[in-house]
Amino acid sequence: MMKEITRIILFGGTFDPIHRGHLGVAQHALHALRGDRLVFVPARQSPHKRMPHAGGDDRMAMILCAIRELENIFVSDCELQRSGPSYTIETIRHFRRQWGEDAAIYWLIGADQLADLPKWYRIDELLQSCHLSTMVRAGYAAPEMDSLGGIFSEQAIEQLKRDTIDTPAIPVSSTHIRAELAQGRIPKEQLPPCVADYIAAHGLYGVRP
Ligand code: ATP
Repeated sequence: MMKEITRIILFGGTFDPIHRGHLGVAQHALHALRGDRLVFVPARQSPHKRMPHAGGDDRMAMILCAIRELENIFVSDCELQRSGPSYTIETIRHFRRQWGEDAAIYWLIGADQLADLPKWYRIDELLQSCHLSTMVRAGYAAPEMDSLGGIFSEQAIEQLKRDTIDTPAIPVSSTHIRAELAQGRIPKEQLPPCVADYIAAHGLYGVRP
């Protein structure tokens, strides 16, 4: 009998905080890519962003409670454990060591990230070492790869097109949620209930505990 290839979906980001948009597209991607498991990978520090507002322990705790009842969805603290910026290529190497050369590894990004992709650290190596799957993001143009012609090889562009996932457009962002929280409003419809409770209990993002 042929050995089944393990299919691992990795979802990196700051998750500051995790919200319903992340959870919605994650579940859709897990299903669409026929993944065996999806792993949230909170970044210690995104190379493209300022330091997250909440600490790694708090972001980890919020992800853990948000995924508690979701099947085949996990979280890894591997980027929080490393010092310096959280480079995706290093995370892929980490999971390759864990799952082996034959595993199919997918790294999810929202369409808002696409324009910055050419600036990612060791992007050519990254494109060769995993499937980079772009998802729909409400408020941003649909993923369009041809504009990356001349930057990436034709082969890489074809692969990016094949790996694109038609996720539902969920108009939620952490930036908007933090802005609401700073005004003293908890946007409960955009957060899993346990995350809203955690933020309130720990006085994160300017909320009075
Ligand atoms: P911020 O507003 O702080 O930039 P964010 O809401 O974009 O945060 P991140 O933690 O930076 O959240 O996102 C992690 C990944 O999830 C990124 O690839 C981002 O594009 C994607 N993402 C975030 N929210 C959505 C959403 N509503 N739909 C699709 N993808 C999303």
